[in-house]
Amino acid sequence: MSLNSLVDSRDMRFVLFEMLELEKLNRFESFKEFDRSMYEDTLDLAEKIAVDQFYSSNADGDKTGLNFNPKTHEVKVPESFRKGFNAYVEAGFHSLSLSQEEGGMGMPASITMAAAEYFNAGNTSLTMYCGAITGAIHIILPFASGEVKKMYLPKLISGEWGGTMCLTEPGAGSDLGALKSKAVKQKDGTYLITGQKTFISNGEHDLTPNIIHPVLARIEGDPEGTKGISIFLVPKFLINKDGSLGARNDVYCTGVEHKMGLKGNATSSLSFGDNGKCVGHLLGKEREGMKIMFVLMNAARIHTGVQAEAVSSAAYMHAVTYARNRIQGSHITQMLNPAAPKVAIIEHPDVKRMLLYMKSTIEGMRMLYLFLAYHEDIMHSSPNAEEVKESTGIVEILTPIVKAGISDAGWLVTSEAMQVYGGYGYCSEYPVEQYARDVKVFSVYEGTNAIQSLDLQMRKILMNPEMYNYSQLKKRMNDAIAGAKGVVDEKYITPVVRGLAKLEEVIEMMKKQLGEGKFMALVLNATPLQQAFFPLIVAWLHLWSLTITIPKMKKLVGDVKGEERQKIISENNEAAYYAGRVLSSQFFIGAEFPKYFGMIECIMNNEGAAIKSVSENFTGAPKE
Ligand SMILES: Cc1cc2nc3c(=O)[nH]c(=O)nc-3n(C[C@H](O)[C@H](O)[C@H](O)COP(=O)(O)OP(=O)(O)OC[C@H]3O[C@@H](n4cnc5c(N)ncnc54)[C@H](O)[C@@H]3O)c2cc1C
Repeated sequence: MSLNSLVDSRDMRFVLFEMLELEKLNRFESFKEFDRSMYEDTLDLAEKIAVDQFYSSNADGDKTGLNFNPKTHEVKVPESFRKGFNAYVEAGFHSLSLSQEEGGMGMPASITMAAAEYFNAGNTSLTMYCGAITGAIHIILPFASGEVKKMYLPKLISGEWGGTMCLTEPGAGSDLGALKSKAVKQKDGTYLITGQKTFISNGEHDLTPNIIHPVLARIEGDPEGTKGISIFLVPKFLINKDGSLGARNDVYCTGVEHKMGLKGNATSSLSFGDNGKCVGHLLGKEREGMKIMFVLMNAARIHTGVQAEAVSSAAYMHAVTYARNRIQGSHITQMLNPAAPKVAIIEHPDVKRMLLYMKSTIEGMRMLYLFLAYHEDIMHSSPNAEEVKESTGIVEILTPIVKAGISDAGWLVTSEAMQVYGGYGYCSEYPVEQYARDVKVFSVYEGTNAIQSLDLQMRKILMNPEMYNYSQLKKRMNDAIAGAKGVVDEKYITPVVRGLAKLEEVIEMMKKQLGEGKFMALVLNATPLQQAFFPLIVAWLHLWSLTITIPKMKKLVGDVKGEERQKIISENNEAAYYAGRVLSSQFFIGAEFPKYFGMIECIMNNEGAAIKSVSENFTGAPKE
């Protein structure tokens, strides 16, 4: 089956231009040169490269995988990746968000992230090599000294060198404070790095002649824990004064992981300083490592949510096309008639239910990450301090929800896409099983979803001064509720109103638990709280979108029903879009969101069994 669309571009345009009214960002100096057509041209180009160059190598990346040579310590990526990588860099997508003075295009984060949706839907493993360049630039620009910038930035900004993020060690995953990598200062101001890093995405590859590793390590004598961590830039090849490649640095790949998914991306073990000669340059000041890495990690967490949404979107688009073409069984109303004509499975109510679940969830994910991106744009561009403060609050509270909520939902959505395919979905000739394997890791890397949940509950809500972040989000939800009155049927407003009231009860209870020192009961509900947030937020965004889609749908379709309605919808793409968008919002609020109230009940029950359970209660499993 040929498929040239992995993302519903009409829906992307709806969120960007009809909900968020992105073109109004040109009220800010940094975006004043842009208009809607420039944004759309950029997204069209992203889609074209993603479909022609990324998607075409996605299955090959999965099947061919990586070739690691233990003698040379080198990794060859699938040859089919090269064209896509070059097209991405030549078009300047790695520097899309950098200001023009910095050598980029200065596009809003909303457009950068929307473009990332296309690339990740096309080939996530490949997109990761591309995105790592931008990540490295983003921490070098604000934190490196002039000399270090001069050394590293030109070749990163031109897209000639790659990047990574080196945090994890065999004994330090979620607990980064336990890391053992060391740095020793040299007379010339550089540092000698020793240590082992594991699970490093893009850690070694042959797409670029040099790779720049931002590495967390502890300077000899610095305190234990996260406070004593510094960050260094460690190049694969040292850099001569004139910017050309120098000698090989003492950092080598010792292996790549054999993973369930993302098989085209080199998840590498890296060994630093086995010969005592691994040179690194300090970024920022000593012991500022975590603060600096958090800049990269926050962006990477949001991008993980975008990755999960994009892979879900690709799986859903395939499932819809498959359901339109797979003939099986007759219409349910004709089930007792053996002579009834056979129909495409999209005619079966349960298949429609699955597709609507996927469609409404993916649209929710897209509204969520773009809403965050839009506030990131305001946060970085507005001259108004109050507006910046409000948008910062929204970005802060939504970051763990974008990362964890979307990645958890992505696993369910891609699994449902497999279900639509029946037995064929389980087979590797069809693409959806790859999507299900690829999507799983997004709930694990960039901080597991448990870590995101603790961040949301404690740092972003309960410990946030006066719960400012939460109050900003609540304000937006109440605005949508008020705006929906008179436009949207009460049947779709009431659940959101009730949902918000229930969340208030939960947060009040948690505040009390915090005050009373009931810490264990509190943290036990961190993940359930995070998991409940996601459907509430998606329901709110669908309610907001209904205030726009219902009037437009009515204008195009009117009140007609039956065959007449069907005729309008099949002849007019816009009518089909708005009618479909209204139905998916109604489906989400009416058929999916009510599960939230059960989730709230689970939280409010404060069942303490998990606190009381001890290792020995898990009988049957061997001790080691
Ligand atoms: C494909 C892939 C790519 C990766 N890319 C990178 C990369 O580029 N750079 C990099 O530095 N790392 C990378 N990682 C590593 C990733 O970030 C870690 O796997 C992750 O942080 C979890 O660490 P861990 O695997 O050691 O699991 P652990 O930390 O051992 O966690 C195991 C389980 O215990 C839970 N847990 C642990 N501590 C707590 C706690 N305090 N409270 C509640 N629950 C807890 C976790 O949620 C998890 O369920 C990658 C991993 C994979 C699989």
